[in-house]
Amino acid sequence: MIKKSRKVRDYKELTRALPTQSYLDPEMVYIHLQNGRCKTYDLYVDEGDHVDFGEVIGVRHGGFFEQPIHATISGTIGKVGKKLHRTGRKVDCIEIKNDFKNTFHKNITDRPDHVIDKLTQDDMVEILKENALVGLGGSGFPSYIKLATKEKIDHVVVNAVECEPYLSSDYRLILDHPEDVIMGLKYVMQALDCNHGIIAIKSDKNPLYEVLTQVIERRYSDLNIEVVRLGNYYPQGWEIEVFKNALGIEVPHGELPMKYGVLGFNVSTTAGIYNAVKHNLPVVERYFTLTGDAINYPQNYRVRVGTSVQDLIRQSDGYKEEYDEVLVVMGGPMMGVSTVSDDVIVSKTTTSVIVLKNTEYKEEPCVRCGSCVYSCPAHLEPVQIMNAVKRNDKDQMRSLNADRCIECGLCAYVCTSKIHVTDYVRKAKRLIR
Ligand code: SF4
Ligand code: SF4
Repeated sequence: MIKKSRKVRDYKELTRALPTQSYLDPEMVYIHLQNGRCKTYDLYVDEGDHVDFGEVIGVRHGGFFEQPIHATISGTIGKVGKKLHRTGRKVDCIEIKNDFKNTFHKNITDRPDHVIDKLTQDDMVEILKENALVGLGGSGFPSYIKLATKEKIDHVVVNAVECEPYLSSDYRLILDHPEDVIMGLKYVMQALDCNHGIIAIKSDKNPLYEVLTQVIERRYSDLNIEVVRLGNYYPQGWEIEVFKNALGIEVPHGELPMKYGVLGFNVSTTAGIYNAVKHNLPVVERYFTLTGDAINYPQNYRVRVGTSVQDLIRQSDGYKEEYDEVLVVMGGPMMGVSTVSDDVIVSKTTTSVIVLKNTEYKEEPCVRCGSCVYSCPAHLEPVQIMNAVKRNDKDQMRSLNADRCIECGLCAYVCTSKIHVTDYVRKAKRLIR
């Protein structure tokens, strides 16, 4: 039977209604020196040095950009060691031992509103660059490069759809700090001389709609900002779907949205832009979902970047005793990376960790039901791509447009034979890159 599905069970009820817990004073943080986009780095500090909160301690080198590395607590520099990054690779991390004095670096200082009102696009680009703002929803793409666009932008969109199951950190961030998100959007609109902002949410997120519309009506009615409710299906949060359904703008594959007059930012990124412009604050903390059926108290946390997930699992009353083996998923269950180790560190782009009972599903042979083909939002033929990978037929992978896969995970989710189809398509992308 064909299973065509864009509906997935969301499990957000585990955490969504619970208040956010702050865990801002860990004994130690571990700052990633490398990430998915930056392979090399230089350090400006040595073991034993004292650093302030928000101080620059080094620089990461990406393919076409550099990114300052900031201390996320005040304290003493420790050793460089290897820790898991959310990409699934072990990368270099530097330890900082907390002195619990919370000494702010002198650069962290509020900008008065009359100064902000006069900031140009170039000024704001420089602020985001110095404060190392990146796509905090997981992309890690430098926000200053996006903001430096020379295209005419007619619409700025905050993507608050958060359609991945289990995740609710964006939801909590908006409920706790709606004005940070609205002000971040305002600053982006100012930089781009754009007079239309949209905050896109899912249709079932009514508390967000009420909070955002009330705050906008009371305090920001002079801004042309709309809250738009989109469909409750997966992957509605895919930026291309958001632009299509919120604005009717179709961005063809391989083209940049800004060419079509639209630019999108994730919720945490938009709040980060507010903090960078208003407080000159780099990305030193984030909202983070720790959830799953294998821990006692799933909840959302406000944490320092560099916090150990093992610390957070202890804060959540640890593991449920009945589970001997767990699976740790970094990011959402559809698009994230899984491991059996919990020695994971919250990076800037780690939205969540999901700890699940480790259930082995036995893959059955493909029954050619076509469910993966009917469900694919990118209109691909995942089963054919999988067969091409098995034959190592790169020409076929190319002609099947494997590179257009957005790695949403739906093909594996709907597969009645429990085949990890998405892994094959990911492999095809790698092989033809
Ligand atoms: S993971 Fe890729 S191939 Fe599979 S459904 Fe999503 S877009 Fe299609
Ligand atoms: S890979 Fe799975 S979903 Fe796709 S055709 Fe085969 S059995 Fe069906």
